[in-house]
Amino acid sequence: MNEKLKHFCYSQNSINTYKSCPLKFKYKYIENINWKHDDIESREYYEGLKIGREFHLLCERYFSNIPLGINDSDKSDFILWINKIKKLIPMDEENIYLPEYEVRYNLFGNELQAKYDLVVIKKNEIEIWDWKTENRKINYKNVENRMQTIVYMFLAKDIIPKLFDINIDTSNIIMKYYQPLFDDGPITISYSDQKHNSNKNKLNEYINRIKHTKYENEQKDYRYELIHNKEHCKFCEFNKLCNGDDIDYNILEEEIYEC
Ligand code: SF4
Repeated sequence: MNEKLKHFCYSQNSINTYKSCPLKFKYKYIENINWKHDDIESREYYEGLKIGREFHLLCERYFSNIPLGINDSDKSDFILWINKIKKLIPMDEENIYLPEYEVRYNLFGNELQAKYDLVVIKKNEIEIWDWKTENRKINYKNVENRMQTIVYMFLAKDIIPKLFDINIDTSNIIMKYYQPLFDDGPITISYSDQKHNSNKNKLNEYINRIKHTKYENEQKDYRYELIHNKEHCKFCEFNKLCNGDDIDYNILEEEIYEC
């Protein structure tokens, strides 16, 4: 195993990065290369990320019952969006609301973490919410099997009930993706014991692959060679570094606001 992964905390972002391209994982998490551009083409992309972060902050304030801090007319989109959230998830004093909630879990000796946009704990149910502010519309097929869904639902079942000393049936855990930019309702993903077992195996498999990949030439202890997934290059921020090709920000893989 690579020394730098000894105390590594796995997340949906890092596992997903490896899944897209193991070399990309090496750049981001072993060599800590932060490939951020500052040119005209990339400005819109980073502006989109900034809007996402600001909206997440507003939602955090709303569900923490603290003033939102927006009056400004040029933030009218945010006002519209937060009003949609208020309508969709009216606060009920019987429930527990946990915005920007972070959990960590030890899966077979490996640390796994998730940071939820919102967890709502109801009497017999756990709801996980995720806000998506990008202007690309998502659908059920896009999100059902994405790494974020796998990690978030797995941890919601295995750790949240323990932390709150409650018993929640697996079928009463749901995840909702919501895009305030559109008028559609949230996309809801259900859960089951079968999905849970399959998620556990998948996560364990990915983590073991990540741990036992050869990231450096001198690394002796490894089971998998480092793959360069050329299929993913056009969606990758390292395209310039690897291939000398320009980056198309319209199709660049979205950065997610977590670890
Ligand atoms: S540009 Fe291609 S090969 Fe290089 S890290 Fe990205 S996906 Fe992998």
